[in-house]
Amino acid sequence: MGAIPDTILSELKAAAGPKGWTQDPAVLAPHLAEWRGRWTGATPIMLSPATTGEVARIVTICARERIPITPQGGNTGLVGGATPQGEILLSLRRMTLVRAVDPLNDAMTVEAGVTLLGAQEAAKAAGRLFPLSLGAEGLATVGGAISTNAGGVAVLRYGMMRDLVLGIEAVLADGRVFEGLRSLRKDNTGYDLKQLFIGAEGTLGVVTAATLKLFPRPAARAVALAGIGDVAAAIRLLAVAKDESGGAVTGFEILPRPVLDLVLKHMERVRDPLTAPHPWYALIEMSFGREDGARETMESALAAGVAAGLVRDAVVAQSETDAAAFWRLRELAPEAERADGPAIKHDVSVPVAAMPDLYARGCAAVAAIVPEGRVLCFGHAGDGNFHFNIAAPRENADAFWAKREAITEAVHEAAAALGGSISAEHGVGIMKKAEIARRKSAVEMDMMRAVKAALDPKGIMNPRVLLAGR
Ligand SMILES: Cc1cc2nc3c(=O)[nH]c(=O)nc-3n(C[C@H](O)[C@H](O)[C@H](O)COP(=O)(O)OP(=O)(O)OC[C@H]3O[C@@H](n4cnc5c(N)ncnc54)[C@H](O)[C@@H]3O)c2cc1C
Repeated sequence: MGAIPDTILSELKAAAGPKGWTQDPAVLAPHLAEWRGRWTGATPIMLSPATTGEVARIVTICARERIPITPQGGNTGLVGGATPQGEILLSLRRMTLVRAVDPLNDAMTVEAGVTLLGAQEAAKAAGRLFPLSLGAEGLATVGGAISTNAGGVAVLRYGMMRDLVLGIEAVLADGRVFEGLRSLRKDNTGYDLKQLFIGAEGTLGVVTAATLKLFPRPAARAVALAGIGDVAAAIRLLAVAKDESGGAVTGFEILPRPVLDLVLKHMERVRDPLTAPHPWYALIEMSFGREDGARETMESALAAGVAAGLVRDAVVAQSETDAAAFWRLRELAPEAERADGPAIKHDVSVPVAAMPDLYARGCAAVAAIVPEGRVLCFGHAGDGNFHFNIAAPRENADAFWAKREAITEAVHEAAAALGGSISAEHGVGIMKKAEIARRKSAVEMDMMRAVKAALDPKGIMNPRVLLAGR
């Protein structure tokens, strides 16, 4: 892409308003740094419009001039999709209005730059729950979570972002506004166009606002940590817990002892709540509409797990402080792994029942390539999603890194062989686009390219992302 003429830059600045642009390298720097430090971006200008009208004016100019755009929310995405390489950076962070909260309809309309935490708080202020929760929720935005179809720790009960969106407002690649902010539970009037923008990673338009589903706030939660033998026991325990609680399981996360050891070694204010070590741990959360009986339900589920030979030991949180402490052990797993040293990371999913098989196949495949690599898995077991990470050995790390592509191919192949996905919740970005093109069928790739060509014929929306070859 050539340099943007000064006259066009002036037009873009005017469209974004006096507070809506910057070319200051110091201000731009954090927007050009990718979270894990894998990519560094470059942009001639960052535009930060405050209204949908301003976004529309900016995109209209870009369409006319064929200037490519990279949209950005909280810049917490993990696949390089929000890092511009010469494109205009369009930040949505100034669009932070909560436009409406409607508790009776269990719906709320917020702008794209509202953080997930902000959305949770707006719902809470109205006595409702917005359930999408993930480690980066203080920074990640509603627009970004929609564009990556984010998951997190409550998918088991409430679903991914896709399940939480009733309506979307988006600026199309030609600058027109798609006014799809409906709050209907039923609307069978043809193609569900809002779905196109969910998981589109900014390649079809700019999400400017969304109407989100809300839920009753649970009156009580019960949280337990169970020591278990293996992944198969975890999956059977999940089924037991669902049945015993009448479907009250909200979260079911697993991690192996070596990962817990890293958390205990590198993180502060953590302790192992169980007296003896176990090969694996299941963190179970149940939510209830009534306070009474919550802990008892969890206890009876665990007792059933013990009776079935699945649970070796378990502890139920006696207070919210306990519950938060148990959750910290899982939530700090990525940070603890990072503190311990570099790793090759994978975000794979399979049908829940195939998780033990995925773990076995993945470990065997990795061991065949790098016997010295340490598999440090943890994940959202209730959703069939493993973060299947392979830590570099301390000795001979160069030889390990030289096999990086083979390792990733082996892990992804293990998931694919079980009907799984090579990107469970982080998206494709630039990181996995070549592989997606290879693994998806020609029919699927044609359909994706047809949608792209129809909605962004000039190819200005995040052109390097998602679809290979652009
Ligand atoms: C510590 C940590 C924990 C995480 N945990 C999870 C987890 O548990 N589950 C999970 O699913 N993900 C997780 N993620 C990754 C997750 O995808 C992002 O946190 C979040 O969904 C992205 O939101 P964002 O606003 O930061 O988007 P960005 O990173 O800014 O952008 C992500 C993509 O969306 C596009 N985009 C952003 N905003 C818009 C918009 N308004 N319109 C059109 N396109 C747009 C960008 O161009 C880019 O392609 C985690 C990330 C971190 C750093």
